[in-house]
Amino acid sequence: MFPKKDIRSFNENELKEILISNSFKSFRANQIYHWIWNKSAHNFDEMTNLPERLIAFLKENFAINFIKVNRMQKSSDGTIKNAIELFDGFIVECVLIPTKDRITACVSSQVGCSLNCKFCATSKLKRMRNLNPDEIYDQVVLINKQSKEYYNRPLTNIVFMGMGEPLMNYNNVIKSIERITSKSGLGMSSKRIVVSTSGVPKMIKKMADDNVRFKLAVSLHSAINEKRTSIMPFNEKMNLNDLIDSLTYWYTKTKKIVTYEYVIWKGINDNDEDIQALIDLCKKVPSKVNLIQYNSIDDPNFVQAPELIINKYLYSLESNKIKATVRRSRGEDIDAACGQLANKS
Ligand code: SAH
Repeated sequence: MFPKKDIRSFNENELKEILISNSFKSFRANQIYHWIWNKSAHNFDEMTNLPERLIAFLKENFAINFIKVNRMQKSSDGTIKNAIELFDGFIVECVLIPTKDRITACVSSQVGCSLNCKFCATSKLKRMRNLNPDEIYDQVVLINKQSKEYYNRPLTNIVFMGMGEPLMNYNNVIKSIERITSKSGLGMSSKRIVVSTSGVPKMIKKMADDNVRFKLAVSLHSAINEKRTSIMPFNEKMNLNDLIDSLTYWYTKTKKIVTYEYVIWKGINDNDEDIQALIDLCKKVPSKVNLIQYNSIDDPNFVQAPELIINKYLYSLESNKIKATVRRSRGEDIDAACGQLANKS
């Protein structure tokens, strides 16, 4: 027998057609839609305003594959990491990050990752499959629930910085964001969503054409082409020239600045030449730089550069009128920080 199809893979019109062709009233589609999206119902019995005959029909023909929390870990800094079990047994991770003025959900877009960034724990897992839109949406619903439960306030921000490369699962990521921002979903503002990419030029151009409203972050880590290729091998095919070209296109179309994420490692990108290359690159497209702390993945080749070098970067960027911030790690003690998501559980 085939597994039952998730009811959430249909849009409202498709649901209407299914109902009509099975002699149910079409207005029920709207009620079902409200249950599955606004109320995030986990099963059909919760849909108390539907007739019993319809509930029985739904149960017999469809499933709601809401994600399951396989393991939840809380860090001493309040960060919560969830290992999420999908309907087919795969596990991905999503993280709640609390700060004084916001609560951020860091969500995954793929099971594993096909890019092979040398410093990232997720790259050690083969890409198994893309997440469906509802599997991405469910992570946000879950974190919003945890946020209210543990911090008495709702989720405020979402970053696509968990496992996977969002632009290699573009359609599903876009569909999940449509749900997250739609009134019939969570109704959150797209201004509070950041999609982070390793840099897929073709898809950055597509996003610009699609006139998306969320923010864009690019994991840069080096502004010198050969160096970037040595730590992010896909850069050989999708090189910095193509990346800059796509980001120029992005800015021209959307007028949104780009955030570059950048880790500084000892002996890799810690000299004056690296800083100058970054400054030159930043001058090409309106942008800002987020210097992120390296989270160790037990590889002796990658060691965080000392504070002195970080300050040198900050000073040089700022004196060239380039905005720069330093982002400290969160949830390191439970391997929940950037680049540490690798299903250790
Ligand atoms: N594939 C996307 C999103 C996932 S990674 C991307 O590359 O942007 C989210 C961020 O964490 C990226 O900026 C990535 O470069 C960074 N990162 C990966 N491994 C890291 C590590 N060990 N320490 C700190 N940041 C890391």
